Amino acid sequence: ESRKETHSFKTEINQLMNIIIHSLYSHPEIFLRELISNASDAIDKLRFKAQLEPDILGTDTEFKIVVKPDAGRRTLEVSDNGIGMTYDEVAENIGTIAKSGTAVFAEAMNAAKKNDALLPELIGQFGVGFYSSFIVAEKVTLVTKAAGSDRAVRWESSGDGSYTIEEAEKATRGTSVILKLKEAEEDGQDFTSEWAIREIVKKHSDFVAYPIVMDVKKTKPVLDAEGKPDPGRTETVVEEETLNSMKAIWARDKSEVSEEEYNEFYSHISHDWNPPHSRLHLKLEGTTEYSALLYIPTKLPFDFFLHERKHGIHLYSRRVFIMENCTDLMPPYLGFIKGVVDAPDLNLNVSREILQQNALVRNIRTNLVKRLLDMLAGMEKEKYESFYGEFGHVLKSGISADFENREKIASLLRYKTTKYDGQWISLREYVSRMMPDQKEIYYMTGENLTVLLNSPHLEQLKEKGYEVLLMTDPVDEWVIRDLHEFEKKGFRSAEKGDLDIGEIDEKKKDVYNALFGCIQSSLDDVVKDVKPSTHLKESIACLSGDPHDMSAFLEKILRANGQ
Ligand code: ADP
Ligand code: MG
Repeated sequence: ESRKETHSFKTEINQLMNIIIHSLYSHPEIFLRELISNASDAIDKLRFKAQLEPDILGTDTEFKIVVKPDAGRRTLEVSDNGIGMTYDEVAENIGTIAKSGTAVFAEAMNAAKKNDALLPELIGQFGVGFYSSFIVAEKVTLVTKAAGSDRAVRWESSGDGSYTIEEAEKATRGTSVILKLKEAEEDGQDFTSEWAIREIVKKHSDFVAYPIVMDVKKTKPVLDAEGKPDPGRTETVVEEETLNSMKAIWARDKSEVSEEEYNEFYSHISHDWNPPHSRLHLKLEGTTEYSALLYIPTKLPFDFFLHERKHGIHLYSRRVFIMENCTDLMPPYLGFIKGVVDAPDLNLNVSREILQQNALVRNIRTNLVKRLLDMLAGMEKEKYESFYGEFGHVLKSGISADFENREKIASLLRYKTTKYDGQWISLREYVSRMMPDQKEIYYMTGENLTVLLNSPHLEQLKEKGYEVLLMTDPVDEWVIRDLHEFEKKGFRSAEKGDLDIGEIDEKKKDVYNALFGCIQSSLDDVVKDVKPSTHLKESIACLSGDPHDMSAFLEKILRANGQ
């Protein structure tokens, strides 16, 4: 028997549709992303089912998503040969909100009613999904035939509060959604234009794992009797073209991705022509499920310290693009990392504000940071040093910013020292070769190695064989302040206060006391005290700070920043 039923949308759906239409009018093109994502999900589901029931596929085994614009009729059709829906499934899935979400949604809706500003935020928490079609369409028709069924169903609505469901004819398995587009706004996009569609697919759905195809007209030379192109005559032919690259290489197995593909993908997402320094490809299952393909560039990007940086971490959910440069997935001290994170359980329309509070995103971030720090710790010496030379000064800020990982980051620090000409050493190495009586880690900060190596403050230490870390990055001042100690050894500035090495010759002190007094009185406004130095060997005098004073380098940095 055939039945045609007219239903009213549930109140929540009506409200949801209004909100979607009114809050997303500035991004109307996302409807296409949503329809393609549904089509891709439907194919995923069918493929999954076919593992147990291979017959279900029949002869229709070439999965694809077809986009078909018709400028004359002002329609746009998106079809798939996925799992399709039965009559009851259409009734259940289209026109109601997924069971689990309903209660939460209704609640949030009530809260939002009192505050209109919350609406766009609210949208982010619930997938806009299928209903986003009504942003651009005055009528939406869905025709679907479930895998294994010989009956098709048509669902139709003008988004005015009601919809109809009836049985229909459809030759092939899967779902077609046909949008009757509203009149294009004067300055708006025309969603029947080949170029508009190409661009939207490329931007939002490039890594969908199935081909998204469209018939395009091409002008080609006519072939002559011998099959050679005749340059004088051309004809217009229609060819099916795949619009997306489908290279969801993060979703593939490591063993299935070639070095070349990895590098190609890196330049695609980073717009960096140099090959990457290193990469991390992860697939995690369990409570926090995600896959990630991250890269460390070879060079620090020139725009690194600009505020509006591009091409950071791209966030996807089930191969559907959510956003570019998702800063919530990476702390600033690892802000140079590029790549893709795909979190299947993440809502497609989650907004930036909501991401920050999203527990899943926080877990992924914690996990990624741990993995990256472990990768750096395990890197072979030369490779690590080439990384450190480029990014070390950025990484160091993690000492102050990331309390939980402070020790891990501390073990990644490298410094040049007064010994072992020009070599980087770790704090662990430093501690392991401290002098037997040495209790603290000596360091000195300054503008560059030459200045530091020639500093009179280091004379005694060098003479007596103590090693001193030479710190030349402004951020080192904060590293010392926040790190306090390493392997229970505190830090001691070689520049400030007395050093606990060697004794002051008491006789010398007596002889020069009068002289010190004289210098002190003439420099009273400038210096606090004049006394014998534990620092000097060759030089006659040097300026020193109190142990808790700022270092000369820090004073200089602060002055340069107008502080
Ligand atoms: P979501 O995709 O987040 O579940 P949507 O509003 O996009 O929400 O879609 C609602 C439901 O409609 C889907 O969960 C699915 O069951 C069904 N559906 C939508 N499009 C298709 C399609 N092309 N093929 C099969 N089922 C579909
Ligand atoms: Mg969807």
